[in-house]
Amino acid sequence: MHLYVHVPFCARRCVYCDFAIAVRRETPNEEFIAAIGREWETWKQHPAWVRSPVIDTIYFGGGTPSRLAPEAIARLIDLFRSGHPIAEGTEVTLEANPDDITTERAQSWRQAGVNRVSLGVQSFDPAVLEWMHRTHRAEQIPEAMGALRSAGHHNVSVDLIYGLPDTMRRDWAADLDQAFALAPTHLSLYGLTVEAHTPLGRWVERGQAALPPSDRAAAEYLVAHGQLRARGFEHYEVSNAALPGHWSRHNLAYWLRSPFIGLGPSAHTGLWEERAWNVRDWVDYERRTRAGDVVLAGRERLTAEQVRLEELYLGLRTSIGLPVAALGDAAWAVWVQSGWAVERNGTLRLTAEGWLRLDALVASVSHF
Ligand code: SF4
Repeated sequence: MHLYVHVPFCARRCVYCDFAIAVRRETPNEEFIAAIGREWETWKQHPAWVRSPVIDTIYFGGGTPSRLAPEAIARLIDLFRSGHPIAEGTEVTLEANPDDITTERAQSWRQAGVNRVSLGVQSFDPAVLEWMHRTHRAEQIPEAMGALRSAGHHNVSVDLIYGLPDTMRRDWAADLDQAFALAPTHLSLYGLTVEAHTPLGRWVERGQAALPPSDRAAAEYLVAHGQLRARGFEHYEVSNAALPGHWSRHNLAYWLRSPFIGLGPSAHTGLWEERAWNVRDWVDYERRTRAGDVVLAGRERLTAEQVRLEELYLGLRTSIGLPVAALGDAAWAVWVQSGWAVERNGTLRLTAEGWLRLDALVASVSHF
């Protein structure tokens, strides 16, 4: 079993962000622990635990989990441990922003059981960070990495965003160099997307910002892919690469359709064919847990056809790939000829060029 905990609190909203967040100057630690505790009680007796009794990964995502007090993280992990056994060597990931990291906090996270940190870097360019409304400054990034290392965190992932507007004149190669100079074990690459109801969405609507032509975003993605391979990273999923032995076990669980329970506002749960998702708003979520109301906003049971399509999509996202039998012969042969996929021993894997076309390729074969 895999646990996801959504910590919605942020100091302010980044321009591109459409996640379920709650902007708070002070993090309401006690209220959060109590609310998660109450939701956890509703899951502790779920029949899924019979089939999958041991917690294998815990992921604190957000929002900004590093804005929780370290003691709050320790108490939450203890809470989960009190309900179900946690496997030896469980992967416990905390998403953290560089400006929240001090050696003391990093030590406390380690003592609490956190053994993987995902660092929200996005860029090393001060003008880009300011444009994004990030709370950290460029010089805080190496300081944060230093603090993590001195506290014994050696499994650290770095997030970068590519495909920024031309007006930013962002030097992608320089940002990649600085990211590699931090010696992370894992790198996540996200293309900037424009979502409605975000500050960026409004800027684009008013003509005050424009995304770059898709060929520049694609070129940046391919440059990153080449650098990752040259430095010994395994590009194991469309947006993720890691040194051998450092794939994110938690994210892999989603892509392999392993069971997971999501706690907190907007968190999703997937128990084989069952899907459920919580209300998005923190205030609503917290009030419901106090009132003893359900926090689920919806649920569905996937049909066999939906499961097949999900397996197709998830398989093509990863370097694990798919058995060619899952696809029509004509389709994958064209992909291989075009350099979008490789086939070996009956397994088809998309190349980086293929991942740039992932949605279109999936759509083209979803009828098989
Ligand atoms: S820190 Fe992350 S979750 Fe918070 S506003 Fe920025 S992108 Fe969104």
